[in-house]
Amino acid sequence: MATYSHSKLSTFDQCKYKYKLRYVDFVRSELKTIEGFMGTIVHQTLEKLYRELKAGIVNSKDNLLKYYLWMWQKNWTPGIVVVKKEYNAEHYKTLGLNYLMGYYDKYSPFNQLTTVAIETNDRLGLTNNDKYYVMIDRLAVDEDKNYYVIDYKTNANPANQTTLDKDTQLAMYSLWVKDKFLDAKSIKLVWNFLATDEEKVSVRTDEELVEMKNSIENKINEIGNCIEYPATTSKLCDYCEYKSICPEWKRNEIEEVKPKYTRQKLLNAYLK
Ligand code: SF4
Repeated sequence: MATYSHSKLSTFDQCKYKYKLRYVDFVRSELKTIEGFMGTIVHQTLEKLYRELKAGIVNSKDNLLKYYLWMWQKNWTPGIVVVKKEYNAEHYKTLGLNYLMGYYDKYSPFNQLTTVAIETNDRLGLTNNDKYYVMIDRLAVDEDKNYYVIDYKTNANPANQTTLDKDTQLAMYSLWVKDKFLDAKSIKLVWNFLATDEEKVSVRTDEELVEMKNSIENKINEIGNCIEYPATTSKLCDYCEYKSICPEWKRNEIEEVKPKYTRQKLLNAYLK
């Protein structure tokens, strides 16, 4: 019996070698990217907002932004990598601030829905006794018992509706909501794209959920039977924590650098 998360399954799809390093060999890497770091601090700030709201405390915008900046400073380490060389850490810090300001202005005083849970930490049982990890950013409900599985996104470009309608992460979470909250009249999947201030919603039928759960269980079987873990390079390698120990990435990098190196060698020989 094992627990699978959305991130574990998508790592398998992205690159099996990365999956092996992270989930089979348990190779630890401290490497963090600035996008991931900023996303974490923004999530923690929104978590504070809604946790305190549940206790009847409404943070002022100023207070919330101060908390964000304090968390940034407290958790910052020099090893955090800025992948896009045209930007620096300050750029990302300001982006996060802007996201929070936009969110605050749009939803204040935050009374549209009642928060039921924040950053859940539970598991959904699967047919073969494996588990699916459920971590919902925020679960909320309205007066008519419609539930909302809410996810905050800090990536620059929002996904389109077709992609969201096929997304499995929040849909799997909705199965957990269905099990736990028997009063749920409907369950909506909601993505808050903070960069563009957009809220996108997807709703699934029972048939779609059954089909999706089957496909997730099939994927888990495929992972269980996997014996070869080839590396798959893509533009996502730039954000991979195992770049420095990945032979495939090194080989690709050498292939890219080789022509320049040869030209430089020729030039040196000529100058000499
Ligand atoms: S650098 Fe790329 S190819 Fe290598 S493990 Fe990471 S994702 Fe896979």
